[in-house]
Amino acid sequence: MPTTTLYDLIIIGGGPGGYTAGIYAQRAALKTVLLEKGIPGGQLNNTDEVENWPGTEKISGAALALKFSQHAAAYALEVRNHEVVAVEPGLTQHTVILDNSKILTAHAVILATGGSPKKLGIPGEDQYYGRGVSYCAVCDGFFFRDKTVVVVGGGDSALEESLYLAKLARQVYIAHRRDAFRAGMILQKRVRQEKRITVLWNTVLSEIQADTQGVNGVITKNTLNGTTSTLATDGVFVFIGFAPNNSLVPASTRMNADGYVLADDKCATNIPGIFAIGDLKEKYAKQIITAAADGCTAALAAAHYVEEKKTSL
Ligand code: NAP
Repeated sequence: MPTTTLYDLIIIGGGPGGYTAGIYAQRAALKTVLLEKGIPGGQLNNTDEVENWPGTEKISGAALALKFSQHAAAYALEVRNHEVVAVEPGLTQHTVILDNSKILTAHAVILATGGSPKKLGIPGEDQYYGRGVSYCAVCDGFFFRDKTVVVVGGGDSALEESLYLAKLARQVYIAHRRDAFRAGMILQKRVRQEKRITVLWNTVLSEIQADTQGVNGVITKNTLNGTTSTLATDGVFVFIGFAPNNSLVPASTRMNADGYVLADDKCATNIPGIFAIGDLKEKYAKQIITAAADGCTAALAAAHYVEEKKTSL
C-alpha cells in the first residue's frame, strides 16, 4: 500500500503563480507542498529580460525565478521535485498521485501548470526540432550567432524574442500572417529600430527544409495572393502563443473551448477546493504579475476554504 500524506494545500506547478501561492500559504500557516517537475520558475526561465515586474526595471527571467524560489525557501515552503500524474477530486479530500506512485492528499489543490508553446503543424517542424527548429530563444539563440533565423508570430513573445535574437544573429526575419502586430507598442517600436530585423508581413511558413547539417530554409506563402517562395535560413523560432497544460485538470472541471480553466474571482473552479491560476486559467492578461496575483488570491481563498472545512469536520 503506497504511503499517503495529508496536506492542507497542494500546489502543482512552480512558476510565478505557484511560488506566490506557496509564499502566501506559508504565511497563512497552511501545511503546504509545492510540486514541480522541472526547474523553479517554469516558462520564466525561457524569458530573456523581464522589464515589467514593478520595482525592478530589468531582470533576467532566470534571476527572477531564482528570487521566487529563494523567497519561498525563506518561508520554509516544502518543494518536491516530482511530476504529478493525476489529480482525483474527492468529497472530503483531493488526491494527487506522483510519478513515483506516492499518493498525497489535501483539503485544497491549486493547479498552476501554466502553458506550453503552440506548434505550427507544418512539415519539418517536429522532424527538425533541436536541429534548427526551436521554441526558446534564450535556450538556443547561442547556436545562431552570425546566422540567419526566421521568427514566426506577431505577439509579445515573437517580438521580444526577435529582439533577443537580433543581438546574436546576423539577420532575423519575422514572418507574421497579418499586416499588423498584436504585440505591445514599445516592442513594436524597438523592432522597427532594429536594423537586423526584417518583417515579412502577410507571410506564413508552409514547410521547413533541412540538409544533413540541420535547417537550411523555409517555404513561405503570402497570405494575400498565395504566392510561395523559398527563404534560406539556419533556424526557425516559433512563438505563436501558448496552449494550457490542462492534462491534470479533473474531467468535471469547467473549461472554455480552448482548454483554459474557468475560475471565479477567487480562482476557484467549479470543484470545491480546487483552484486554477496563471496561464492555465482563462483571463485577459497573461503576465508574470497576473500569475503572481492569481497565486496570492488562490492561496488566501484556499486558506479560508481549509479553515471552514476543518471546523465543519
Ligand atoms: P499571442 O499574444 O497569442 O500571439 C501569438 C501570435 O502568433 C499572434 O500574432 C498570432 O497572429 C500568431 N499566430 C497564432 N497562431 C498562428 C499560426 N498558426 N501561424 C502563424 N501565426 C500564428 O502569444 P504570445 O506572444 O506567446 O503571448 C502570450 C501571452 O503572454 C500574451 O498575453 C502576451 O501579452 C503575454 N506576454 C507578455 C510579455 C510581456 O509583457 N513582456 C512577453 C511575452 C508574452 P494574430 O495576431 O494574427 O492572431
